[in-house]
Amino acid sequence: MSKNVVMVGAGVANVNAATKLIDNGFDGKITIIDMGKNPYDRKYSEVMEGFLGAGGWSDGKLTYHTAIGGQLSKYCGEDKAMELMDQVITNFKRFHPKPEEVHCSNPTAEPDFIKPYFGLRLFPVWHIGTDYLSEIAKNWYDYLVDKGVNFIWETKVTSIDFNAKFIRGKDKHQQEIRSSYDELIFGVGKSGIDFGKSLAEEYDLPTEPKSVQIGVRFEAPQKHFQKLIDVSYDFKLYRKFDDKGVSLRSFCTNNNAAFVAVEETYGNYSYNGHAKKDEKFRNDMTNFGIIMELNGIEDPFTWSRNLVKKLQINNKGLYYSPSRTSSLTSEGGHVEATQINEYVMGEVREAFEGYFKYIDDFIDGMKEIFPTLKDDWGMYIPEVKYLSPEPLVDYTNLALTKYPNVHFVGDALSARGITVSGAQGTYVAEYILANPNIFRIFTTNNNIMADKKIPYPKPQKLKKADGTIAHLWDGKLHNWAGPALIPEGNKKKREYYLYGIQYTEEDHKEAIKQQTGLPWFKQPAPKGEQHRH
Ligand SMILES: Cc1cc2nc3c(=O)[nH]c(=O)nc-3n(C[C@H](O)[C@H](O)[C@H](O)COP(=O)(O)OP(=O)(O)OC[C@H]3O[C@@H](n4cnc5c(N)ncnc54)[C@H](O)[C@@H]3O)c2cc1C
Repeated sequence: MSKNVVMVGAGVANVNAATKLIDNGFDGKITIIDMGKNPYDRKYSEVMEGFLGAGGWSDGKLTYHTAIGGQLSKYCGEDKAMELMDQVITNFKRFHPKPEEVHCSNPTAEPDFIKPYFGLRLFPVWHIGTDYLSEIAKNWYDYLVDKGVNFIWETKVTSIDFNAKFIRGKDKHQQEIRSSYDELIFGVGKSGIDFGKSLAEEYDLPTEPKSVQIGVRFEAPQKHFQKLIDVSYDFKLYRKFDDKGVSLRSFCTNNNAAFVAVEETYGNYSYNGHAKKDEKFRNDMTNFGIIMELNGIEDPFTWSRNLVKKLQINNKGLYYSPSRTSSLTSEGGHVEATQINEYVMGEVREAFEGYFKYIDDFIDGMKEIFPTLKDDWGMYIPEVKYLSPEPLVDYTNLALTKYPNVHFVGDALSARGITVSGAQGTYVAEYILANPNIFRIFTTNNNIMADKKIPYPKPQKLKKADGTIAHLWDGKLHNWAGPALIPEGNKKKREYYLYGIQYTEEDHKEAIKQQTGLPWFKQPAPKGEQHRH
């Protein structure tokens, strides 16, 4: 019996998941549904949707460190995280028309002039180049189609019934599409966060505690930053105010042919950046996000969303500069933003409820270490990350704790970049490959029931990051004849099983006491006999 895997979103996460399955001879059916277009029809202006998702038209910088790009090692440990990221980078090179042009920058020493004002995070980055992404996408897409992956384009998934394992959507002619699934991989990226959030509310999904991640996209002529770019192309300056629960970092630096991109979420503008590789696009600009991480804000999602709403004038985001106007896009128009003066900046500072002073200080610090910068800079407001709540997942397979055959991956979970998103997709695919026979049958209250006709999945041994060995069965950490542990942040939720059948804690205790349903080696041997081992 082969599995029916449906993936929502053809972004970096799911494309890597599908590739992993295909490369390893997965014999089930793979269907990928995306509201965007295939790489042959996708237009340059379609920044967030279509084959490879936001990653397809991004800056093509593949960060290679577990501290960058969102959460990965928290699920699988450091070593596994690096191995998964390797697989993603290999895929990008494999479908690259000129893999020899992919290069890695790997700064090793923090320069002295930074030290009094900032820390500098050093990590390797693989540079793919925006200009090649379209060709990579076409090669990759052709490979997957050739191997039998079924893509459904220009179709927006509008509802998912996690209990009936059924999805519904609308194609571009507003015709309804329906599909059932055995395993669902939900990788809708940032463009699908409202959908992810509505599912979380509908199914009352538990979430991980989160911080607010918000700031601005800063831009200036590259010459001011050159001495740092020479050390680290994608530099990450950071500052921490642990006692205030605030930290800041520069994020996603673009140089040489650097452009600011508009992102639209919930109908509001926010900003990001990308760089072109082709010399003809050179504008000698540098841009990067200055992102604050704010801890301790109750309901960070609502707080961020309200703030983003306040930072819109004339239905656009904002641009402030003491001396410049907003720059041009790679297509020649001005970046869409409403230019504001110092007076309106006062209102922006108020909207940030006092937190903007950290960004002001960050810019002042940069003026110290890059003395030519002075007033020759501008900022696009806001840049925002992590807008959606992060659903709580089983760390061993990224499946929702309440729905073990629904896996969340990429930006829809906790990623913030290409490598980590792709790695999360690969991680789920590895789980599906390792557990080909899990077909779960749900009772009405959604507990999993064992079906005697279906072979049980084999237990697996898992070495955890701290070196301890855990037993994994059906996606849960098992303490044999004790409770199954469902990872939940620092806490552990417990479920009680015997022979794969779920019990309440009390019934489980009773069954153990009565020694019913116990494996033979746990039962007392009849008088005068011994169990053989
Ligand atoms: C301009 C820009 C530049 C970037 N540059 C970099 C960079 O250089 N390096 C880096 O590491 N990261 C970069 N990023 C971030 C990176 O692209 C994302 O982190 C990554 O693409 C996330 O992968 P994903 O698979 O989770 O989602 P995505 O790649 O965003 O894919 C999600 C897909 O889901 C589809 N979708 C959404 N909702 C639905 C629905 N309801 N029904 C059907 N389909 C749906 C979308 O059409 C999209 O194709 C950049 C992002 C942007 C916007």
